[in-house]
Amino acid sequence: MSNPDSPAPAPGRPVVLRGGTVLTMDDSHTVLTGADVLVVGDRIEAVGTALDVPGDTQEIDASGGIVMPGMIDTHRHMWQTAMRAYGADWTLTQYFVWYYLEHGKTFRPEDVYAGNLLSAWESLEAGVTTTVDWSHGLQTVDHAEAAVDALQAVPGRFVLAYGNIQAGPWEWTADKAVQSFLDRRRTGAGDLLGFQLAFDVTGDPSFPEKPAFEVARELGLPVTTHAGVWGATNDEGIRLMHEHGFMTPQNVYVHAATLTNDSYQRIAATGGSISVSTESEQSAGQGYPPTWQVCRHDIPVSLSMDTSVWWSGDLFSAMRTTLGADRAREHLEAHAKGETVTQARLRAEQVVAWATRGGAHALGRDDLGRLVPGAKADVVLIRNDRSPVSFPLLNPYGHVAFQAQRGDVHTVLVDGRVVKHEHELVGVDLAAVRRTVDATVDHLRAQLGEEQWQAGMNPPMPEDDEVLDNPYQYTEYKSDTTREARGTVFGEPGSGR
Ligand SMILES: [Zn+2]
Repeated sequence: MSNPDSPAPAPGRPVVLRGGTVLTMDDSHTVLTGADVLVVGDRIEAVGTALDVPGDTQEIDASGGIVMPGMIDTHRHMWQTAMRAYGADWTLTQYFVWYYLEHGKTFRPEDVYAGNLLSAWESLEAGVTTTVDWSHGLQTVDHAEAAVDALQAVPGRFVLAYGNIQAGPWEWTADKAVQSFLDRRRTGAGDLLGFQLAFDVTGDPSFPEKPAFEVARELGLPVTTHAGVWGATNDEGIRLMHEHGFMTPQNVYVHAATLTNDSYQRIAATGGSISVSTESEQSAGQGYPPTWQVCRHDIPVSLSMDTSVWWSGDLFSAMRTTLGADRAREHLEAHAKGETVTQARLRAEQVVAWATRGGAHALGRDDLGRLVPGAKADVVLIRNDRSPVSFPLLNPYGHVAFQAQRGDVHTVLVDGRVVKHEHELVGVDLAAVRRTVDATVDHLRAQLGEEQWQAGMNPPMPEDDEVLDNPYQYTEYKSDTTREARGTVFGEPGSGR
């Protein structure tokens, strides 16, 4: 049983996690049982059994638990987290209308700050030690300052992917104030904060995004882009990027769900990676989660959560749902041909690798996403002695992908520092975070007015949503009277409330 009264290890002293099942995620994906992970400073010092450790080392009991690298989310619009779950029933079209066209402009710098602050703590709580903030709400440099301030107020590893949906990428990247912001905040930012540029390529044959890519090249910043999004971006964008020489190994293609083989081949040949947001693709409609075809092209994959306006920042969900989507498609396709899938292609081990090493690769950080000597000490211990789901621990990859959840995250280290200890975030003032978020919600709600606020959260039902006639009437279970009674309790089906 964990002892909630034991203090979090003091920063600066070595830490050893003792006696766990260690998923090293090294090049051979070595798994060690009853093993220790020693952290000295910001690095993994050693991994092995019965390690000798320096005299002042603080011990964390990892027995019965799984020690794995910190997870990496390569695409999340963190500024939207103050609207948590508001758009649970949205489609992508409704999201675009709400954020891009109608209400994105109402977010002030302090609202971007509030969303980022909440999202950043949420990451650490779930064992996501690195998060890419796909920050496309930066209408002014003040918004960008606020975004970075929030990320730096939380002891996690973050990448600010600078973006602005309120202007063309050729406009805001040319803005000297934006360029000098990037210069200034990168200088001395240290290892815990990286930068990218975030914009989409529409496929307009005149390729207006070209100057934005040139700025990225000039500044030495990777570009992350929503590619292959049904109804929004397509093969033309990929072709233009490729023919103009802007496809590099640093590029991250988010979703990449509605592309043809030609685009996948261009991505594969230029070394970029794909950020799969399965929960998002399944629910919002960017296209079918593309792991099944991306793997055939041997394109590197990382996982992401997209936005907490629908989903939470939790890569356990991403791993689980990615396995499910890939397998569901394979079964469905086989059944349509009257066949049966007898061997699963996508394995639990693979999605754990995508959530760790895959993210590190996407960010060009081979010192993350693995527990090997010399790597950065971003470490997660999954252990929950109070949970009947914590044992038996037979298949550690299967356990991480299908059994574990954020509440089982016992300890998190980022850069060698314990940021979650015995299931509690270290140094967070959640009441203060809540006040910050509440102020943003109050502001947005007042700006929209109550009617628009409610309408935004409760999109109408499709017109053709009807219950089919059933020729079998042998039971009273669905008699007219039962239906009527149900109707008075929950409202008429199809009314959209
Ligand atoms: Zn996105």
